[in-house]
Amino acid sequence: MCGIVGYVGTKKAYPILINGLTALEYRGYDSAGIASMENGKICVMKDKGRVSNLNNIPGLNDLTGTIGIAHTRWATHGMPSKENSHPHMDNSETFAVVHNGIIENYNELKAFLSDNGYHFLSQTDTEVIPNLIHYYFSKETSDNKFLAAVQKATADLKGSFAIEVLSNLYPDKMIVVRKDSPLVIGKGSEGFHIASDIPALLEYTRDFYLLNDYEYTVIENSSIKFYDKNLVEHEKEIKNIEWAASAAEKNGFDDYMLKEIHEQPTAIRETIGSRLKLGEACNFSDINISKEYLSTINKIFIVACGTAMHAGLTGKKFIENLCNIPVEVDVASEFRYRNPIVNEKSLCIFISQSGETADTIAALKLCREKGAKTLAVSNVIGSSITREADYTIYTHAGPEIAVASTKAYTSQVVLLGILAVYFAEILESVDTETINNIKKDILELPSKIETSLKTADQMKELAKKIYTEKDMFFIGRGVDYNVALEGSLKLKEISYIHSEAYASGELKHGPIALIEKGITVISILTDEALVEKSISNIQEVITRGAKTIIITNLDLSNAGFENVVKVEETNPLLSPILSVIPLQLLSYYISKEKGLDVDKPRNLAKSVTVE
Ligand code: GLU
Repeated sequence: MCGIVGYVGTKKAYPILINGLTALEYRGYDSAGIASMENGKICVMKDKGRVSNLNNIPGLNDLTGTIGIAHTRWATHGMPSKENSHPHMDNSETFAVVHNGIIENYNELKAFLSDNGYHFLSQTDTEVIPNLIHYYFSKETSDNKFLAAVQKATADLKGSFAIEVLSNLYPDKMIVVRKDSPLVIGKGSEGFHIASDIPALLEYTRDFYLLNDYEYTVIENSSIKFYDKNLVEHEKEIKNIEWAASAAEKNGFDDYMLKEIHEQPTAIRETIGSRLKLGEACNFSDINISKEYLSTINKIFIVACGTAMHAGLTGKKFIENLCNIPVEVDVASEFRYRNPIVNEKSLCIFISQSGETADTIAALKLCREKGAKTLAVSNVIGSSITREADYTIYTHAGPEIAVASTKAYTSQVVLLGILAVYFAEILESVDTETINNIKKDILELPSKIETSLKTADQMKELAKKIYTEKDMFFIGRGVDYNVALEGSLKLKEISYIHSEAYASGELKHGPIALIEKGITVISILTDEALVEKSISNIQEVITRGAKTIIITNLDLSNAGFENVVKVEETNPLLSPILSVIPLQLLSYYISKEKGLDVDKPRNLAKSVTVE
């Protein structure tokens, strides 16, 4: 979950490392640290707290080394503290390591190392890594001792890791390797840049090496060498990534989240791209699924976590409505352990913005083992999930930096919609008129989103009225219930207000007991077919003293409700894309009213690369 940065080049390393850490801080932010190679000796500076705290460490500005590693931590083992911050060194202070991930067998390895005379200064799982490297190094006789020791040490690790290693004995070298945690290497004009994600490096380069699991990489001066699991050297292709550097900046907005909310028209336009045009069949030439194969599928699984799972819930409605194939949606951490009935007749779709979500990737591997074909939906080109899946389709939302997802969610919903239309065309499961109408509606989304964004002032005023509340409810039916779930999650994530989302029809089966005078109930009401029933549910909570906010595309002017927020009409299946936006804005403004750090909410990290 943390961020890793590294640099090997001709410039002073520390400003580049701090700059990279700042760009990655959304991934983890309880401690930070760097190690720079100073005249052949590793110099470590670290502390708990935000990256900016590093600037207060005496001597930072005196660092002149041109090779260094850095880390922003999201603690898994051991409280945030200076001792537990990375980099960690071995007992002899020969090797320094930064690590992202979890070493699951660290207790076992600690016991082994203790028996061999090593001791530990931190409570982290990470500290076993530099000591294991030292252990193997001291026994190694081959010419390539440093690399061989790193390989042997990492072969002992269970769990996930992306690591960078420095050694006093090899002051010009850095070794990096990953397994199930992200790591990319950029080739810039003045050296190699390493980071957990691409946006952190866009100001230096567009040329990237995307590392595979156990691909040992040795960087020394201007050379870079790649080795496989058995240390056989190989060539590696460099990939050019098109994202603009400015996409990862705030561009005048107070926060990334607000910027990303406002980027939704563009994100959706880019995601639609050339895939969908009126009068033409959908174009998914990147995956080319055949009618022969699709006709054998009797069930589709959509597996994801958090907001991506909420996008999946709407994806289910699209596919079931248009393709007539049953769809099951599950959270990845549950799905993996419930022995799901998956086989070659199942198509399994996995959604992950970052493409690094550990549980989702593990679920994908499970489905592959069971003989199903796998399809990844991701926003990050070359991310781990895309390298595991049989098929990959990308949302083109651009880098999403705020921890709370907004534009990635709406892009995922749109992409699943287009995918359902594509499947329906292949299967000829609905008539052309239905297909054409939905295509038209999808193409109109970017401009209709602009109308949803115009609710910002209204949402800001509502936020001022309700930001001190302790509990809220979100209700809806059908896709509106899916949006209720997402609205409630957004509120929890960035405002720390407790809220629950219920299918409106479920209220009477329990939760209505919690409705009392003054409580806020937010209703989403966009599906005309369900409007009467939903209005009855709203009346029921009003009768019990609730205050309501209604997000709707219907004309409710005669219904006498307070706080009606209007969005544009569209196909009911697509309405989440328009109705979620006022809820994103409401959460944002509530968080601002409370003076919270919107982009970096407590306890959360952007890409959840641990299980
Ligand atoms: N498990 C390590 C720790 O707790 C690394 C956590 C991270 O990825 O930031 O220090």
